[in-house]
Amino acid sequence: MTNEKQLKTHRARVKCDNPKCDWTQDNAIVLNWHNKQCPKCNNCIIITDEDISVLKNLLLLAEKVNELAGRKIVILGKENCNKNKEEALSITVDTKTLRKK
Ligand SMILES: [Zn+2]
Repeated sequence: MTNEKQLKTHRARVKCDNPKCDWTQDNAIVLNWHNKQCPKCNNCIIITDEDISVLKNLLLLAEKVNELAGRKIVILGKENCNKNKEEALSITVDTKTLRKK
């Protein structure tokens, strides 16, 4: 699947979900933080299995919308913001809010 490939190189801002910790990293390869502890507080997984699953679905959704539109109108993550500024809709999502409770 194409979104598996996209997932491997997908860059975004990653952050620690520990409310007492403010660690973030911009333009990080998301998959590199999968099941990794926060380097600052060492008390929180940066990217959980559920984050990965949410991200996969979002990549798939973006792909479908772009397919239907016949052009790239949805860009996931902020890394491409400047490139396709004129027509693209850049979406950033906090996966924490999309996890199942
Ligand atoms: Zn932390």
